Amino acid sequence: MTTNTNTTAPTAKCARCGRILRSAASIARGKGAHCARLDRREAAAREAGFKDAAIDKALQLIADHGIVPVRGRRVFAVVSSDGTGRYLTAREACNCPAGLRARHACYHRAAAHMLAA
Ligand SMILES: [Zn+2]
Ligand SMILES: [Zn+2]
Repeated sequence: MTTNTNTTAPTAKCARCGRILRSAASIARGKGAHCARLDRREAAAREAGFKDAAIDKALQLIADHGIVPVRGRRVFAVVSSDGTGRYLTAREACNCPAGLRARHACYHRAAAHMLAA
């Protein structure tokens, strides 16, 4: 007895994470809904001039639920990386130590751009 290995349907995989796509919309897009949203967020931060390192940290912050909206999609509360501090951030400004020095836009603001996207 041999098993027939030729009956599997062709599978579409997410271009970003490689997971198998099941919904028609995802297959048409070539990406799962979650990954399409991540792409949109990355694009928004990149457009605002953030570097890859900041974008990665901002994506991680969002994935860790380290940033939560305070007022609509404009003002957010963020938890500092060591978990002890709490800052307020928006696309335009952030009151974390790096943000107050204001030489570079901190990654909290990248996250604010992403969540507003
Ligand atoms: Zn994916
Ligand atoms: Zn900040």
